[in-house]
Amino acid sequence: MNILVLNVGSSSLKFQVIATDLDRITRDADERLCRGEVERVGGEAIVTFQAGNGSRHKSTAPLRDIGAALDYVLQWLVSADSGIPHISSAKDIHGVGHRIVHGGELFSESALITDQVLKGIEDCIDLAPLHNPSHIKGIMAVRKVFGPDVPQVAVFDTAFYASLPEHAYLYAIPYHLYQRHRIRRYGFHGTSHRYVAYRYRQLRKLTREQTNIITLHLGNGASATAIRGGKAIDTSMGMTPQEGLVMGTRCGDIDPSIVNVIATKEGLSTHEIDTLLNSQSGLLGVSGLSNDMRVLSDELREHDDRRVRLAIEIFCWRVKKYIGAYLAHMSGADAIVFTAGIGENSAPIRARICAGFEWAGFRLDEQRNQKLIGTEGEISAEGSTLRGYVIPTDEELVIARDTARVILGEPHPS
Ligand code: AMP
Repeated sequence: MNILVLNVGSSSLKFQVIATDLDRITRDADERLCRGEVERVGGEAIVTFQAGNGSRHKSTAPLRDIGAALDYVLQWLVSADSGIPHISSAKDIHGVGHRIVHGGELFSESALITDQVLKGIEDCIDLAPLHNPSHIKGIMAVRKVFGPDVPQVAVFDTAFYASLPEHAYLYAIPYHLYQRHRIRRYGFHGTSHRYVAYRYRQLRKLTREQTNIITLHLGNGASATAIRGGKAIDTSMGMTPQEGLVMGTRCGDIDPSIVNVIATKEGLSTHEIDTLLNSQSGLLGVSGLSNDMRVLSDELREHDDRRVRLAIEIFCWRVKKYIGAYLAHMSGADAIVFTAGIGENSAPIRARICAGFEWAGFRLDEQRNQKLIGTEGEISAEGSTLRGYVIPTDEELVIARDTARVILGEPHPS
């Protein structure tokens, strides 16, 4: 089956077409037919297309909305010169999988999109006011552009956390706030954590039940998840993606009373403070230079800037704190798994985070660590009882496979 994987944002659309089915899943033989992106939808959009592992083509086109962008993508998919095998009309797309940021408490697994499911995604708009409305626009656009009969599947970022126990997802605030407004931890990046956990147990030839690991998704957004017996038992992101680790522009954990202090001292509204904590904090806020870890790492190497050093130190300190907390909750783990932009590519950051975990049975193999840049493998030394791995994430593959499984009526095992 050719599955179109879509990630629709407010003014952008990312896509991949992946050939997958139950047989391909079993043989790990899924095939990525193409990928691309449409940015700045609403004006002169920037479009990037890539067939297979071929070269990337960049162009611009006036695309007024997501529907127009999707139609443009379809025209490229079916055109003879796109170079994509097996796709010559909209009928050659057998299903569409959507990344949906928030499924609230309604969705604990991927779901075939019916009118009822669509209503459920709408009901979660309160929880993800910036994301869910765009996803709904994407679903409606697919119905229009590909026709009403193409099956669509929703894959929720939050679903992996349906297994969190109450004591991990409830905040210690008056209980009625949970009852009235569903204020609780939901967790995000679930599809990424789920993929690396799946891949880890594949590499180590373990069953799901034998998988006891801490996964670290360290990108521009960052989160940590404790996985025991293959299930998430805690995660660092909360009601929103703001909680937990230090991120590119988000502060992560802070004393909640700071909001009141900033409001009083700086005369800012709660909305303005929310923006400050989400968009002007984190690595950017501390360093005063950039939210981009690569820029900060280069700057540190060349000029040893004090605030840049501090931003990186705070980032690593916070990650270590979560690893320590999760090791305590899990009574020890088998491995720490790094993924996403920083986790996959920055050996120095991984080394900083891993330093000092000898007490827990972890020893870094410097050479292995240096060698693993954007590729998969082990970074711990022989004999470590707590191992370290780097596993590049692949959320699109999870979405494509879930979509195929849901369409074929198979329960999803990963
Ligand atoms: P993501 O959100 O997963 O795309 O990750 C983006 C983050 O990964 C940015 O902060 C990048 O600077 C960071 N990143 C990518 N490559 C490197 C690298 N080689 N060293 C340090 N940070 C990197």
